[in-house]
Amino acid sequence: MRVFDHPEFDHHQQIVFGCDETSGLRAIIAIHDTRRGPALGGLRIYPYASEDDALTDVLRLSRGMTYKSALADLPLGGGKAVIIADPRRDKTPDMLRAMGRLVESLGGRYITAEDSGSGEEDMRLIRQETLHVSGLGQGGASGDPSPFTAHGVFCALKSAVRHRFGRDELEGLRVAIQGVGHVGAHLARELHAAGADLVLTDVDRDSLGILVEELGAQSVTPETIFDAEVDIFAPCAMGAVLTPEVTDRLKAKVVCGAANNQLATPEVAGRLHARDILYAPDYVANAGGVIEVEAQRHDRYDRDAVMRHVERITATVDEILTRARREDRNPAEVADQLARERLEG
Ligand code: NAD
Repeated sequence: MRVFDHPEFDHHQQIVFGCDETSGLRAIIAIHDTRRGPALGGLRIYPYASEDDALTDVLRLSRGMTYKSALADLPLGGGKAVIIADPRRDKTPDMLRAMGRLVESLGGRYITAEDSGSGEEDMRLIRQETLHVSGLGQGGASGDPSPFTAHGVFCALKSAVRHRFGRDELEGLRVAIQGVGHVGAHLARELHAAGADLVLTDVDRDSLGILVEELGAQSVTPETIFDAEVDIFAPCAMGAVLTPEVTDRLKAKVVCGAANNQLATPEVAGRLHARDILYAPDYVANAGGVIEVEAQRHDRYDRDAVMRHVERITATVDEILTRARREDRNPAEVADQLARERLEG
């Protein structure tokens, strides 16, 4: 396995491989950058096919956290952790406590939180060994950041609509949402309240059916969501959804959603731009969650202040899209550059 010349290696400050024989823990923590503060990023538990896949994921995700926190104006750096295990079969309290000791060994340079495969209960177990855990609903917070993530996506989407369609209102615009789980369902309700018409899909047909009825939305199959005659496409399910093929099928003129790493490859950003589809960079639009998780680390949790911070996503998206238009570049490229400027400045 290569590390320093790995394609996803980006001058990461520290990469720690942790192993605990008794519990079967095999984990990697990547600290990408701590110039703005401790490296915060979730713990992903996933049965990676190989150690190299796990390393690829943790390197890419930790760098993404650096950029996300920098553009959300948080006093945080970027990090991420992965455990190579099936969360349904292999995860045990002993394994999570061993993970807690690994996090503790970094002395606060890395702060962990929930991610796919790990939940609030797991964070409580990790907390038995280290205080460097967030997302436990401390200080009056709920512990579920998804309403904040959804509101941030809503703000980003409004900004993108202003840039692409020259209007402030969402009334009558058609929005397709892929995935109506935690974030997607909140987003759907917010868009419905703003007068948008919704086209929804999910592989979980039961929860989809309930939401479709509640909001009077149209439902389509997961395979056909990309062909929907809509103005906006909001990916809120999984990453790498924007492949070249999907990009060519889209009828929407704005893409803005919550999913992490929506672009299957960086080149897709150029393809969206060439098709005149305005892409709101995922890590800018979905930063509401990390803004909320950061607020939970402090004694005085003020929900209104968190919401106001989340709403600053509007200004960040405005800045990115204005610069992208002025320089005729795609917004993903501009967002990365802006993040690097903030890190260096
Ligand atoms: P979730 O698991 O609650 O919801 C995802 C939904 O997508 C589920 O209902 C699932 O059934 C559905 N889905 C999965 N594959 C699908 C497919 N092929 N087609 C249609 N639907 C599909 O997750 P979430 O917390 O709502 O997060 C959604 C996305 O946003 C994820 O990519 C996550 O990484 C990202 N994100 C979430 C947060 C947060 O605060 N929860 C913050 C930042 C980013």
